[in-house]
Amino acid sequence: MSLSVPASPAPAAEPVLRPASLVGRTRAGLSDALAEIGVSEKERRMRVGQLWNWIYHYGVRDFSAMTTISKVLRAALAERFTLDLPEVTAEQVSSDGTRKWLLRMPPVGARDRGAEIECVYIPEVDRGTLCVSSQVGCTLSCTFCHTGTQRLVRNLTTEEIVAQLMVARDRLGDFPGRTPPEGAFVPNDGGRFVSNIVFMGMGEPLYNFDGVRDAIDVISDNEGLSLGRRRITVSTSGVVPQIEALGAEMGTMLAISLHAVRDDLRNELVPLNKKYPIRDLLEACRNYPGLSNAKRITFEYVMLKGVNDSDAEARELVRLLKGIPAKINLIPFNPWPGTRYECSDWDRIERFSEIVYRAGYASPVRTPRGRDILAACGQLKSETEKLSARARLMLEQSEAEAAALAG
Ligand code: SAH
Ligand code: SF4
Repeated sequence: MSLSVPASPAPAAEPVLRPASLVGRTRAGLSDALAEIGVSEKERRMRVGQLWNWIYHYGVRDFSAMTTISKVLRAALAERFTLDLPEVTAEQVSSDGTRKWLLRMPPVGARDRGAEIECVYIPEVDRGTLCVSSQVGCTLSCTFCHTGTQRLVRNLTTEEIVAQLMVARDRLGDFPGRTPPEGAFVPNDGGRFVSNIVFMGMGEPLYNFDGVRDAIDVISDNEGLSLGRRRITVSTSGVVPQIEALGAEMGTMLAISLHAVRDDLRNELVPLNKKYPIRDLLEACRNYPGLSNAKRITFEYVMLKGVNDSDAEARELVRLLKGIPAKINLIPFNPWPGTRYECSDWDRIERFSEIVYRAGYASPVRTPRGRDILAACGQLKSETEKLSARARLMLEQSEAEAAALAG
């Protein structure tokens, strides 16, 4: 059984520009905020550290809770800024603990009504994975992906990316002194509810390089959200020139959306392949900074019936990846209205997986989590028509990724 909780009232017809929120800002961004209200340069450093601690370690939602900061400064901050999180317009909870939030970002300008994105949380015994987005929509038009058909595309800001984790921790009561919601799955190792992040929601993270890099700096900061870079996976469709910089500047785990073993087919499925073909992509993978058996690249492969799922392709996949410390993540295709593809039959996926497994790769294909709330996706559809298929994708994909990371 699933539970659907209307989380907050419907938004006003005309967007009202609220004062800017400090949540999601980098240290430099917080320093700018302090400068705006006249805090001297000398004092700013210390104040940034305090704000950082209150916002990211304690997750406070009100300046008045920041007891190490003088009342005068708290009042000045409250007059100019907020600690608002994006509005949660819907929350769905699956019987297996998977949670899906529909988030409306505050408008970034007078004409903007605020982007809507979905964020999915998948709890497991030893981890909790959050699937986040880097863009609204995507410019890359992979033929099997619903996001690619969405016309509205913009990069999410650093704040909007970080805010996805802040919302998750806030809703899960995952800050010191907070209580988890009733029925929430509590990790059995005393760890955090959200222990892993995958950039597998909407968008191509490497087309929003700076936004994602700065967000990861905030998320992984030891004095705040403290989520280690080894627990963050960035998935790319293969923006080759940025892969080395991703490793060098972000130091996260890497996932590659491969999906085909021949250029002619990959050109069709992932049109970016025409620019950066398989050979160049794999070369960039071989050179990925920090690559080792302990830090493997995950190769994602969506199972499309009669398109890329033959035994010969499984064997070719294994051959191509030879010498690269890798995991292979087989994703059952999630159909969406109007798609020309179908998901491979289950025995075909098993056979494919068997070949990959015999070559020494764990290739888990698991039953997707949160099926019951997927079934309820239609309820969100009228509001977020273009996102509902994506929500299904994020759930299944995150589950598969979590399984691969566990493997
Ligand atoms: N743009 C990035 C990250 C987001 S997509 C990328 O492409 O890697 C996350 C993953 O979901 C990718 O591997 C993508 O290929 C896969 N995907 C997209 N649409 C899908 C669908 N309908 N069914 C299953 N997987 C899909
Ligand atoms: Fe964009 Fe990734 Fe979808 Fe391709 S698979 S259209 S890169 S989100």
